[in-house]
Amino acid sequence: MDNLLKHRTNFKFGGPAKKIITAKSEVELIGALKDLKLKKTKYYILGGGTNIIANDKGYGGVIVKIAAANLKINGKKIICDAGLSLGKLVGAANSAGLFGLETLAGIPGTVGGAIYGNAGAYGREISKFLKKVKIFDGKNSRWLPRTSCGFFYRESVFKKKPWVILAAEFNLPEGSAKKLAEKSKEIIKIREKKYKPNLRCAGSIFKNVFAKSGKIPAGRLLESVGAKSMRIGGVYVPQQHANIIINNGRGKAADAKKLIDILKKKVYRKYGIRLEEEVQYLGF
Ligand SMILES: Cc1cc2nc3c(=O)[nH]c(=O)nc-3n(C[C@H](O)[C@H](O)[C@H](O)COP(=O)(O)OP(=O)(O)OC[C@H]3O[C@@H](n4cnc5c(N)ncnc54)[C@H](O)[C@@H]3O)c2cc1C
Repeated sequence: MDNLLKHRTNFKFGGPAKKIITAKSEVELIGALKDLKLKKTKYYILGGGTNIIANDKGYGGVIVKIAAANLKINGKKIICDAGLSLGKLVGAANSAGLFGLETLAGIPGTVGGAIYGNAGAYGREISKFLKKVKIFDGKNSRWLPRTSCGFFYRESVFKKKPWVILAAEFNLPEGSAKKLAEKSKEIIKIREKKYKPNLRCAGSIFKNVFAKSGKIPAGRLLESVGAKSMRIGGVYVPQQHANIIINNGRGKAADAKKLIDILKKKVYRKYGIRLEEEVQYLGF
């Protein structure tokens, strides 16, 4: 495959990276990271590329694609690599009759990406039943207990530290395999109405807002400032949800960034609220 980031991200934006390394095991990954550090080469960690806006001009460093994807179940414990797809983790937990991950069904990307952004849906975040996270801190690998991961809504310590997530251990309560599978199926059905297959997007662009009065959905604020009618080039906000931006296939990351900045300004002017992006920027 070529080095174009638009071929590696769900939004389908992005020019070439200098190089892309695919690390298929933890040993390979740590070896590559140590080598990059030694050569003082800048790098960016890529999971599934489902929450990223990559610069049209590309990235002048090395992309390290996390692809180790082992999974082990031992009683109520699941240990898996960061490169495992979240969907596979959810499926395995459901089949083993382990409760707690079933509401995350349908969220694309990897386990590492989900931990980085504390991904969640339908009232549950990935951090809820996480016991510990294995990281590489540039020198050593070690396990961090959940309490040291700084999890809150769409946030974690991993957004602040240059650590690479290698693996995760979950401790899950028992449930009924049949009921868990039914729950996931039901959620996927609802999600498919919001996100048609192969939609070029990154899910919700902005985080919801938590005020003293409670949760304010970013979509509601955006809708009230006319987001749904907005478009720049091949990038637009669809009618079905004001907190999503779609690339029609000819869109540019620069247009998405412009649209995001305009939306933020409009919401700030009307409500005095500064919306924060959930989506991550690569190469900006
Ligand atoms: C259609 C659609 C629906 C979505 N629905 C939801 C939803 O319901 N809830 C939700 O929370 N999100 C949702 N998302 C957003 C996205 O899927 C999640 O944020 C997902 O967890 C990102 O995982 P990823 O592997 O694709 O990460 P990437 O997009 O590859 O990376 C995201 C960030 O994580 C970092 N990262 C990735 N892996 C690692 C690692 N191993 N170590 C350190 N850093 C790492 C990257 O450097 C980057 O900064 C949706 C996206 C799409 C396209």
